[in-house]
Amino acid sequence: MLSIDLTGKHALVAGVADDVGLGFAIAKALAEAGATVSIAGWPPALGIFKTLLARGTFDESMKLASGGKFEFAKVYALDAEFDKMEDVPAELRDSRRYRDNGDFTISGLAAQIAAAGPIDIVVHSLANGSEVKKPMLETSRKGYLSAVSASAYSMVSMVQHFGPVMRPNGAFVSLTYMASERVIPGYGGGMSSAKAALESDTRTLAFEAGRKWGHRVNVISAGAYASRAASAIGFIDQMVDYAKRNAPLTEAITAREVGTTAAFLCSPLASGITGATVFVDKGMNAMGIAVDREGAKT
Ligand code: NAD
Repeated sequence: MLSIDLTGKHALVAGVADDVGLGFAIAKALAEAGATVSIAGWPPALGIFKTLLARGTFDESMKLASGGKFEFAKVYALDAEFDKMEDVPAELRDSRRYRDNGDFTISGLAAQIAAAGPIDIVVHSLANGSEVKKPMLETSRKGYLSAVSASAYSMVSMVQHFGPVMRPNGAFVSLTYMASERVIPGYGGGMSSAKAALESDTRTLAFEAGRKWGHRVNVISAGAYASRAASAIGFIDQMVDYAKRNAPLTEAITAREVGTTAAFLCSPLASGITGATVFVDKGMNAMGIAVDREGAKT
């Protein structure tokens, strides 16, 4: 039987801070396929996540279909807005949530991962846009650039720093949203621009990392899903409802569907796929007009 087998592989999933987000579902799917999984969390969210993890709050979510429970090999800190410690402002570095996390930059994380042993899979499941609620016409240069820095350049930097320390034929996956190529009113602050950059960079990085190391780089374009980050934008329930009424498949997207696609893309079964934007959105991207528009006959 054809199956996703990641036995013997070590994966890092960056962007896990609860058991609801897409990163957690990806980590779980990778573990179910047999990979050893480490995660990295953003320092402002990491303390509480570690506390809840230690208390067993996530035990139910960490149960595997096979019966056992998976464990994270390691939990690291990562602020993906920074490539090296010299770039971190002193006040942030010395602040309560950051100061005990060692080197939480992308280069620091890559060095810690390399020292811990071989790595094969790196997942970028993070994004941030300080002005995401502002329309583009009101977005400041600072807000726009911070969205692109945290949500797109962070992936470029991760491939730069992890590419050399991964075993050959490694796999990178990141997460994007359809707002990169179609207008989604409300997804503002330069976040749509960041996702467009992330998708374009996926193609260029696939070429460069493929030629240099044999690594593959793909991006999953996920449908609307009520994670913590998406809920903070403010209208996620309406987006989920809209997709259910208008997508070819009318069930809401699940985090597990994104997780299993990521596991496939990171597996040898996907050895021919790189530079791709893979939609996991129940077909929403294929629609050119809403089904439930006023006066429509369906
Ligand atoms: P989430 O809140 O679970 O994940 C986002 C994570 O990014 C959080 O853990 C947060 O702590 C982390 N983060 C924020 N800034 C960071 C930084 N500077 N450094 C390191 N980590 C940082 O939400 P999610 O929706 O699961 O998001 C995961 C990815 O999926 C994101 O790229 C998001 O844009 C993408 N996505 C989400 C949806 C959706 O509807 N939820 C749809 C398409 C794509």
